[in-house]
Amino acid sequence: MELRLYDTLTKEKRTFVPLDAENVRMYVCGPTVYDFAHIGNARPVIVFDVLFRLLRHLYGEAHVKYVRNITDVDDKINDRAARDFPGLPLNEAIRKVTEQTGKQFHADVDALGALRPSVEPRATEHIVEMREIIERLVKGGFAYAAEDHVLFSPQAMNAANSSLPRYGALSNRSLDEMIAGARVDVAPYKKDNTDFVLWKPSKPGEPSWPSPAGIKAEGRPGWHIECSAMAWKHLGEHFDIHGGGIDLVFPHHENEVAQTCCAFHRERMANTWMHNGFLQVEGEKMSKSLGNFITIHELLKDWPGEVLRLNMLKTHYRSPIDWTMKALKESEKTLLEWHELLPSDGSWNSERRQKHPELLAALCDDLNTPKAIAELHGLRTAAVLTPGRDATALGDGLQLLGLFNGSNVATRVSKANLATHDAAKITQLIEERTAARARKDFKESDRIRDLLAAMGVAIKDSKDGTTWEFSR
Ligand code: AMP
Ligand code: ZN
Repeated sequence: MELRLYDTLTKEKRTFVPLDAENVRMYVCGPTVYDFAHIGNARPVIVFDVLFRLLRHLYGEAHVKYVRNITDVDDKINDRAARDFPGLPLNEAIRKVTEQTGKQFHADVDALGALRPSVEPRATEHIVEMREIIERLVKGGFAYAAEDHVLFSPQAMNAANSSLPRYGALSNRSLDEMIAGARVDVAPYKKDNTDFVLWKPSKPGEPSWPSPAGIKAEGRPGWHIECSAMAWKHLGEHFDIHGGGIDLVFPHHENEVAQTCCAFHRERMANTWMHNGFLQVEGEKMSKSLGNFITIHELLKDWPGEVLRLNMLKTHYRSPIDWTMKALKESEKTLLEWHELLPSDGSWNSERRQKHPELLAALCDDLNTPKAIAELHGLRTAAVLTPGRDATALGDGLQLLGLFNGSNVATRVSKANLATHDAAKITQLIEERTAARARKDFKESDRIRDLLAAMGVAIKDSKDGTTWEFSR
């Protein structure tokens, strides 16, 4: 089946043709590890996990390489380390912060049903590659050293008479406008106000490494060079897909393209650039000061990861998403309806089965997950109407989207959430069970009783009918 993806650079949906179908390569900018990840950070994780699963389905598991980095050198990490571990030497404190936060990030995204990427490189383990790229850029006349910094010159890039891309093409900006609009109080070591940092000096006590470009003092990398280095090391000079949130298009991705293409004399870094839209909470931008900053960790205390995942995928990845309690409750209800048709003993494994063609077609149309979810609703209805409630196609579809990982969410829905909105659902299940008993379908009535038990609902039959209460 043909896969079509929207490319931020060319601004069109194009048929995806991998550079090498035996080795399809994707890079996604990962977290800076200094604090719990928030639900906005979960969006690229979930969106690109769906794409990873789809690529594996289309090209074979062994033929897709997904790299998502971990940024473990950053001012925010240094500040957090000094604040949380004031008694420790800074480097030791930094290690503690990045290790703890990295572990927490993994626990969070595992619970969201995200497969681990093929490689999760850490910036601090790729300093050699960063220095190598910087040396190449200096040699090529695209970068220069000044006051222990190394700076990249977008103006030198655009002046080069070659087949390089134009600086500003990805973010659709003109360099002339950037020059005109740049701040006046520009750092004194910059030749031009649009130059950006590749390498900078470290303050005493901060992590530091031997510097490139003949600089004697030790220093540390700028943010953009990290991703160029890690992508190069693990995916090569030119690869298939590069992704991240829409906020990264400028300057981060524009600068990655500049660094990589100038260092390796390439016309392109990635063939397809993909960006997810932003997430806001109950109609407002998420921020610590507004008090609406929600971490994945907090949400997972109240909701199974699959509910959060479904809630995210109900919106197309390029649209903005408004994260609301109302939508979460609806997502939970939907997922319970789907899961009640599937076994809860982990026996489900559909890897070899044919996926439902309309569902696959929806995903192949630039990851149209709202359409795919509509197909899942159809598959549920079809399953309910088939003899024996055959839910194979539904289960296959849920698995492809990472929405059923072998265990029924009903067993993990919290009592508090159930109590708020599921009384109607429980009543409906009890009615279905009564009907099954009336027609002597005891297999079905037992199944419903077990499902209710898994939801924490105990039922009692008497001559006046069936009553229920929460058993936990
Ligand atoms: P950061 O740790 O801020 O660099 O973000 C890690 C990833 O999460 C990047 O791909 C960001 O674009 C993405 N991201 C951050 N905030 C949001 C948000 N509110 N909505 C969607 N994506 C976000
Ligand atoms: Zn990046």
